[in-house]
Amino acid sequence: MSVRVCVIGAGVCGLAAAQVLSERGIPFDVYEKGSDIGGQWRFCNDSGTSAVYDSIELNSSRDMSGFPKFPMPEEYPLFPGHPQMLDYLNRYTEHFGLRPSIRFRTSVTGVVKDGAGYIVTLDDGRMHRYTHVLVANGFHWDPKRPEPAYEGEFTGTQLHSKDYKSADELRGRRVLVVGSGNTACDLATELSAVADRVVSSARRGFWITPKRLFGKPADKVNLPLATFVPPLAQSLLLTAMLWVTQGRISRYGLAAPGHLALRTHPATCEGYLPAVKAGRIAVRPGIERFDGGNRVRFTDGSVEEFDAIVWCTGFKFSFPFLPKELTPVMIGPMRLFRRIVMPEHAGLFFLGFAKTLSAITPVAEAQAEWTADLIEGRTRLPGREAMLAEIAADERRVRRRYSATPQLTVELDVYRYLRQLLRDRRHHLAVGGPLPVHRTGDTTGRVPDPARRPGPVGSR
Ligand SMILES: Cc1cc2nc3c(=O)[nH]c(=O)nc-3n(C[C@H](O)[C@H](O)[C@H](O)COP(=O)(O)OP(=O)(O)OC[C@H]3O[C@@H](n4cnc5c(N)ncnc54)[C@H](O)[C@@H]3O)c2cc1C
Repeated sequence: MSVRVCVIGAGVCGLAAAQVLSERGIPFDVYEKGSDIGGQWRFCNDSGTSAVYDSIELNSSRDMSGFPKFPMPEEYPLFPGHPQMLDYLNRYTEHFGLRPSIRFRTSVTGVVKDGAGYIVTLDDGRMHRYTHVLVANGFHWDPKRPEPAYEGEFTGTQLHSKDYKSADELRGRRVLVVGSGNTACDLATELSAVADRVVSSARRGFWITPKRLFGKPADKVNLPLATFVPPLAQSLLLTAMLWVTQGRISRYGLAAPGHLALRTHPATCEGYLPAVKAGRIAVRPGIERFDGGNRVRFTDGSVEEFDAIVWCTGFKFSFPFLPKELTPVMIGPMRLFRRIVMPEHAGLFFLGFAKTLSAITPVAEAQAEWTADLIEGRTRLPGREAMLAEIAADERRVRRRYSATPQLTVELDVYRYLRQLLRDRRHHLAVGGPLPVHRTGDTTGRVPDPARRPGPVGSR
């Protein structure tokens, strides 16, 4: 069978895949559930998969959030919002002529292995055969709530952050925001300007990092640090810097994190600490139970009434179109070689399943190039045992690095990872044979710098 690739999803990662496949002349089809491109960044996407709220600003900065091949326009704000991000993805799609390859309003409902390839079923019942399937359906669309659910009854409004679109919906209400990530801090801060009362509840202490350092975007300042400094030194440096700039976090009434910065994914939010300090956001520990009516009891014994609870408790990894045997194991980092491919299924690839401290775009582009090398036969996977050993080593490294994270998921050290993918691609050119394994400490590869600006958008 001649090569034909199926790409599931036309968000950041599906588009990156389409760009690389199209550039290399590999035949492919993209299937997109919604009526247009953009995934998360199409506000209120009719695919039902977008979790962004109207006021969102990227945490990653403009210069770091474009694909390395296609920088973001300089006229965008330093931290673009969803309209700019969608505009950028539209420009990317037009510039590389990707639209004709995308079938919109088309969901993939099934993927099964069939000999050396895969049969892909669409929501209209049609079936197509592909040699390779690239899964890029994202992981911010299937809401996760605390499990097991809290005992007791709460009769007020409850919504997950995925369904929160603007603070207006909760104007004048008493709101409890649950969670300790970027979204929890952003929503509590935004609500504190319009709600009657905002309480922020987190089960454990957490670090809050600024978006800007020394007047520059933090991700740009961090680039050399994240590239060349070992993880422990990064943690120590950031912890020291946050102590100097913020003081003890317990001074704000927040629980002390009890671990060094970067041992868990920090929340990046500018307005949260000032709002806590000014008393616009009250803080509470975790919820113990619901006490009936609108009452919520916290683990410190305090009880308070709320009109609404906003659950900023994250998302599940879901692949409703994959049978169990094709679904990667989700405990700890996904059991994928180079976070992309299952050792048992060399034609099935997963793109973008990574939690990073910087933008996902360089990762998406690098993963797409790496995958296309394999599809074209330019590189070969190592043996199954070698891949399993590499996956185990990756998991051990992540557990060490993010030692204070209760439920490890897909945390990724971007720059180390980009170096690894680049080395893989060069290894083939220099040595040939299957991709190398167990070369985790090497820092000699050059990282493609996402901040480089070869020219204005549309000029290449
Ligand atoms: C609140 C929030 C803030 C964020 N901030 C940043 C940031 O500052 N910087 C950053 O880099 N990232 C950020 N992200 C991460 C964001 O998810 C990525 O930027 C990016 O959108 C991921 O792209 P993706 O293609 O993997 O997934 P998505 O953007 O979710 O796209 C997946 C696409 O697949 C489609 N799809 C799903 N299932 C099917 C199916 N069965 N058949 C066909 N199509 C399907 C969906 O409709 C969707 O279009 C943020 C995410 C959220 C939720």
